[in-house]
Amino acid sequence: MPDKPWVAFYWCASCGGCEEAVVDIAEKILDVVQAVNIGFWPVAMDFKKEDVEKKPDGFFVASFINGAVRTSEQEEMVKLLRKKSQLIFAFGSCSHLGGIPGLANLYSKEEILSYAYRESPSTENPQGTIPRTSWKENGYSLDLPEFYDRVFTLNQVIDVDYYIPGCAPPPDIVMGAFEALLKGELPEKGSVLSPNKALCSTCPLNETKPDRLLIKDLKRPHEVEIDPEKCYLLQGLLCMGPATRTGCGERCIRVGMPCRGCFGPLDNALDQGLSMLSAMASILDFSPEEQAQLEEVLRACPDPAGSLYRFSLPRSILKGKIRRE
Ligand code: SF4
Ligand code: SF4
Repeated sequence: MPDKPWVAFYWCASCGGCEEAVVDIAEKILDVVQAVNIGFWPVAMDFKKEDVEKKPDGFFVASFINGAVRTSEQEEMVKLLRKKSQLIFAFGSCSHLGGIPGLANLYSKEEILSYAYRESPSTENPQGTIPRTSWKENGYSLDLPEFYDRVFTLNQVIDVDYYIPGCAPPPDIVMGAFEALLKGELPEKGSVLSPNKALCSTCPLNETKPDRLLIKDLKRPHEVEIDPEKCYLLQGLLCMGPATRTGCGERCIRVGMPCRGCFGPLDNALDQGLSMLSAMASILDFSPEEQAQLEEVLRACPDPAGSLYRFSLPRSILKGKIRRE
């Protein structure tokens, strides 16, 4: 099948949901495999790194890479795929923004390894062994990938052409990206392949949101009986809709959950968490005399960084926790 273009799929630091998102396009996957040859997809087919190395530069018309970059192996593979591909698509929130693995940037590498291998309640490790990158025994040596100090988005490591947003990207967005690629109808390089509008603008609950929205309290979803027909922000729930781009079909909103922000910021927003913080500053209704009550409400918000930057910490202007040890 030499006349069909070749594509590649690869995953880095992610949960595997994005790999499932590829097959979530259901029977339309038959149209995709009719139109392209898959030349690398380690999770589904038996390809090796050498198979990619042997290809000429620019061999793949596109590589779809999901997951953030945290290890030397991931860095090596995405750099190899960049060389061998005409186009790179960052597939899903972790690749686009850092995603949930990016919250690890709130901790140092040493804290993470120590907790995972020594302190967690289910760990038994009397010698306190921590993974190392090389080991020699009986004349043999073993090398393992290096675990980097922080999590990187894909575009912090290689040049990225397009972004397919979402945790995980919904089937219509994935199919739209495949179709645009195959028909040669891709937008400008650097585009995020979903509408550049806030989720609130397409939300079915938007009409219940007053023009001047003011709240006196912040609550967590398990603390209240959520009214599924009323704007969640109006109910005091942290809904990231004002700071998140649309295109997901409002899938969390429609099943009774506030948006957590997985589609990321709008094109003109520097930082998704700051955009939401700015929205919250105009919504929380406290006078200067009520400073103490405001502080109490903010203290009750258990994980501000994890809520405002759940998917976007490595891509934010903070990038992670600032340490001054
Ligand atoms: S804040 Fe959330 S629930 Fe309210 S309109 Fe926006 S997306 Fe919908
Ligand atoms: S509602 Fe928000 S968190 Fe849920 S899929 Fe859409 S963008 Fe992602």
